[in-house]
Amino acid sequence: MTDESIRVEIDHLRREIERHNDLYYKHASPVISDQEYDALERRLRALEAEYPELAAADSPTVCVGADSDSRFPSRPHSHPMLSLANSYDPLEVTAFVKRLRRDLGREDLVFTVEPKIDGVALAVRYRDGLLTTALTRGDGRSGDDVSDNARTITELPARLDDSWPGVFPGEAPRSFEVRGEAYLRLTRFGQLNRMRAAEGLEPMANPRNATAGTLKTLDSREVARRGLSVFCYQLFSLEPEDAPDLSSHQVEMEVIRSLGLPTNPFLRTATDPEEIMARLDELAVLRQGLDYQIDGAVIKLDDRAQQVSLGATAKSPRWGLAFKFPAAEAVTRLLDITVQVGRTGVITPVAELEPVGLAGSTVSRATLHNWDEMARKDIRIGDTVVVVKGGDIIPKILRVLTDRREGGEYALDQPVDCPVCGTPVQSDPEQVAVRCVNPLCPAVLAGRLRHFAGRDAADIDGLGGKWVDSFLELGLIVTPDDLFNLERDQLAVLPGWGEKSADRLMTGLARAKSRPWSARIFSLGIPQVGVTTARTLAGRFDSIDALCGATAEDLADLPDIGPIVAASIVEFLSHASTSEFINNLKKSGFLLEKEEIEEVDDGGLSGPMAGKTVVLTGTLDNLTRDQAKALIRAAGGKVAGSVSGRTDYVVAGGKAGSKLEKALQWGVEVLDESGFLALVQPGDGNHGND
Ligand SMILES: [Zn+2]
Repeated sequence: MTDESIRVEIDHLRREIERHNDLYYKHASPVISDQEYDALERRLRALEAEYPELAAADSPTVCVGADSDSRFPSRPHSHPMLSLANSYDPLEVTAFVKRLRRDLGREDLVFTVEPKIDGVALAVRYRDGLLTTALTRGDGRSGDDVSDNARTITELPARLDDSWPGVFPGEAPRSFEVRGEAYLRLTRFGQLNRMRAAEGLEPMANPRNATAGTLKTLDSREVARRGLSVFCYQLFSLEPEDAPDLSSHQVEMEVIRSLGLPTNPFLRTATDPEEIMARLDELAVLRQGLDYQIDGAVIKLDDRAQQVSLGATAKSPRWGLAFKFPAAEAVTRLLDITVQVGRTGVITPVAELEPVGLAGSTVSRATLHNWDEMARKDIRIGDTVVVVKGGDIIPKILRVLTDRREGGEYALDQPVDCPVCGTPVQSDPEQVAVRCVNPLCPAVLAGRLRHFAGRDAADIDGLGGKWVDSFLELGLIVTPDDLFNLERDQLAVLPGWGEKSADRLMTGLARAKSRPWSARIFSLGIPQVGVTTARTLAGRFDSIDALCGATAEDLADLPDIGPIVAASIVEFLSHASTSEFINNLKKSGFLLEKEEIEEVDDGGLSGPMAGKTVVLTGTLDNLTRDQAKALIRAAGGKVAGSVSGRTDYVVAGGKAGSKLEKALQWGVEVLDESGFLALVQPGDGNHGND
């Protein structure tokens, strides 16, 4: 290679790495895997070492990537916040141990091994036991002040309790900075994505991006709702005279724990590369069962004095190494691209893959997001592709193996017409989306009906997704309001139906009318309005007429509602088809105002459980807690949290605990699930007292 071609490659690598840094840190939406990123950086590092005359002080190999965000004030770190050097290769673990033994001139070194949490680094300061500041890594010298958001992390106490016996035990400073990794539990991440799906939002790609995005959310209440967690791993005193004697990393972790701050329970020691590798294997197995993602292990020299004598480069401490587990990747063929039309008309391409095993499951579909993304990655039908599970959760196509092309591959153009109804599509540059704008598009209608019947909306028991499709096909219904014109006898004779299913749907439809006001707003399927926004609207507007009278400016003044959502609400409500839909719903008795329905329902005097107080305990086989509560309320009963002398019934499912014992103590009637259902089913109201 000539010097010129090397200069060009170095320039290219620096620009690429900076672009990926931006995507990773500023937008929290990386488009390449960590492994690929590290490969770019490694190549750049090698070239810079070989051609020192081409090195530069502002090269990304010298600077830490920045997550700075102008919406948050930037503040300097108490100590530079460096990141550890990364490695994927066991041989580098051996080289690391050898280098440290050589530099320190001794063989008897002790290393610690901990999981590397796949989250976002935070530096949190406590002064006299109070949480004062929390900063992101930023560029390593200063970070963004996300203190308000960090205070919502329940595991980070806002005030350390002095009465706690472990706090400030001689070794621990009163004013200190603790560093750790904020993360989202996988169970919590799953819940959040299900909520987003219910709101018609794209799922978050992985827990780490979700964590980064959450920390950079301006509304701290929303941050609190997301429920971040944290593991701490480093401690500094903020007062020189109060510096604790942290003789080793193990002692440091003990002191952090004694302060009542969370640390990861896995902390092992090792004295040679073989032992370190055994610990890494141990972690790799443990990893499968954890409720959070780890992407590797952190290996540190344990002794503090030895750490200090080794020091750090501008970017990384010399006494530590991050060993990363290989990302879950698989190679397969892209057989076809199908196109989905959602309830708001947004058209999404989906990859149909030759089934391939990936991180313990079989993957046959992957999201392609949109046509811009497809064009950027040059994805063609027939391609051999590398599939990854983004943060091991949602499969996506990472890249195309273009050298495996045989010539027959072809790109799928952005559709000109809706694949379902044939209406010309419209581009929505705001969301990089194309959409079908035909309000009568069958795909849009089915999506709207499913949304209306969904659990957070009208919650219509007895109307599964496949019945929506067949009702549409039979021409029985078009829009959700038509559901209320369905007749019992007409349903009872449908193939696959009968008296029982017809009755169930009729009951479900009747109950839908007494859903909470916010759920009735949500059921309308206003684009961009999820459960949370519907609640905000329900709190501010007492009727749909009042909501229709609001301007986009009025709406944008409400918490959680930005200008895009406000415009979307106004646009939807001003549509002629929406007015008709709303009028028809009103005529059918599905009232669109905040009236007394809920109060009547909560303590109503009609129904088989009229005036009765009911306690639920254990897990029911066929009903969720919320469904059971809804049935009790619909039957005129009240739901209470604990058993007392005034309890009329205890409904006990599997694994019922102390509430069941109490019921027996108080002599309260206990119902099992079938007894309960028999009691609340209309027309069978005297079952419970036998
Ligand atoms: Zn269409």
